[in-house]
Amino acid sequence: MDFSDSSEIAEFRSGLRTWLVDHTITPEAEESEAMFLKRWHQVLFRGGWVGLSWPTEYGGKGLSNAYDVVLNEEIGASGAPDAPRIGYMGRAFLQWGTEEQRERFLPGLLSGDDYWCQGFSEPNAGSDLANLSTRAVKDGDRYRITGQKVWTSYAEYADYCILLARTGEPGGRHKGVSAFVVPMKSAGIDVRPIVAATGESEFCEMFFEDVEVAEENRIGAEGDGWAIAMMTVAYERGAADVGYLSKFGAALGELRTLVSSDGHVPPLARQRLGELEVRFRVLTEHVRRRLTEREQNDSLPGPEMSVDKILMTDVDQTLHRAALELLGPSVLTTGPGSRWLEKYIYSRAASIYGGSEQVQLNIIAQRLLGMPR
Ligand SMILES: Cc1cc2nc3c(=O)[nH]c(=O)nc-3n(C[C@H](O)[C@H](O)[C@H](O)COP(=O)(O)OP(=O)(O)OC[C@H]3O[C@@H](n4cnc5c(N)ncnc54)[C@H](O)[C@@H]3O)c2cc1C
Repeated sequence: MDFSDSSEIAEFRSGLRTWLVDHTITPEAEESEAMFLKRWHQVLFRGGWVGLSWPTEYGGKGLSNAYDVVLNEEIGASGAPDAPRIGYMGRAFLQWGTEEQRERFLPGLLSGDDYWCQGFSEPNAGSDLANLSTRAVKDGDRYRITGQKVWTSYAEYADYCILLARTGEPGGRHKGVSAFVVPMKSAGIDVRPIVAATGESEFCEMFFEDVEVAEENRIGAEGDGWAIAMMTVAYERGAADVGYLSKFGAALGELRTLVSSDGHVPPLARQRLGELEVRFRVLTEHVRRRLTEREQNDSLPGPEMSVDKILMTDVDQTLHRAALELLGPSVLTTGPGSRWLEKYIYSRAASIYGGSEQVQLNIIAQRLLGMPR
């Protein structure tokens, strides 16, 4: 497979690189990380850089998947904030949504004007998601939803939630799970932020008490929720789909700058930076190949994305662990290295969110290697 840039991609890359020089933004005083990333998403959208591989009829650019990798590479190399994480939120609509739902929800998702969250996990349904017990009871042309979700990232900022709820028999496991778009301003939703070890409150608990949701907000048919959830998490495990290639690229660049700030880089530090670069490049080429193959085969992501999640977690955690070693006590001060301790702590969560590492390894053993359960 030839991964060198075609003339079209080279031209795109060069245009994006030039654009980034003039448009990268910095956080405003008191601006939350979530709102900063939302603002950056909107700036990128206005520049024409969002939804590159999405269909043109829904506001995308209709380009090949390879452009998503280039977007990540160039954003990372420029040190700009992360590429938007729209991939895993909206793809379900392309596959399962009605035409009306696509027209209603995709433009706001792509432009960054609407913020979305993912209400899957519950107190007794994380790795064992099929154990979820939030219920959606049909009442005429609407549903009434009651239950609790937890660890919902950005719920306090979200306009909409993709929510899984049980419409079938209690205890029905994968069967009888349905997916809904729930407007977060609906009456009966109580969102309570959880403060994490980083000191930030990225995720929240959500309580639903008899929340009314129109039938037209159900995605797919009743009982399609499990397949929709599996497709959504498969996209979530792709480093370009969630913008993590750009995040790692920017972090590596910043780390190199900090380590060499006094003009001297000890040999062991050079080796460590070299090792990180190799891991990052392996991940990048893996993702490029994965996306190219998916396009060539006209296939949707499946269990193979567990391999991507493991590779992504490896780069994230190796990078941030190395950063603590290389930056030393400066991560405990208020100087330029100070944010790295928080970033390191967050990287530990990579082996949990989007499906834990043990669960990914189980999927690889059973579904890719064909081993018995
Ligand atoms: C930063 C962050 C953001 C998140 N954002 C969201 C979000 O936006 N929306 C959402 O719905 N959820 C979100 N989650 C929740 C996440 O999906 C769950 O935490 C994850 O699925 C694990 O579930 P759990 O926490 O209940 O742990 P458990 O399922 O209780 O697992 C506990 C431990 O047991 C292990 N384990 C469980 N089952 C098995 C098994 N069969 N074999 C081997 N080991 C096993 C796990 O690997 C883990 O180490 C987020 C989590 C984090 C950390």
